Amino acid sequence: MQECLFCRIVRGEIPAAKVYEDDEVLAFRDIQPQRPVHVLVIPKKHITSLAEATEADAVVLGRMLVVANRIAVDQGSPDGFRSIINTGRVGGQEVMHVHMHIVGGQEPVGPML
Ligand code: 5GP
Repeated sequence: MQECLFCRIVRGEIPAAKVYEDDEVLAFRDIQPQRPVHVLVIPKKHITSLAEATEADAVVLGRMLVVANRIAVDQGSPDGFRSIINTGRVGGQEVMHVHMHIVGGQEPVGPML
């Protein structure tokens, strides 16, 4: 997975504004934020998308959910946030490494659909 953009961020080959890191998960600010708080949470392990996720990925995918609120509060969205995982072509996924958007900030983010 030499060319995966987010794997390169994990390895420190491409800079990113990191906001959280543990053994399994990394979170960094989206380069084109859609709201005052817009963070991407990724597994350090390469998982292409939720369509490729297996039982072996259950722990790290759960960890992404568990750390989300802490990240949102730390980044300035204490009253809630939206968490979004786009999957595949129909889901509009652009970067093929599983990532969860955490979107929030001062104002309600509004309806999704
Ligand atoms: P997707 O559409 O795949 O769910 O979202 C990909 C997200 O990755 C987009 O919001 C985009 O702005 C973000 N992104 C793309 N390239 C980079 C990058 O090099 N650094 C950071 N921090 N975010 C990126």
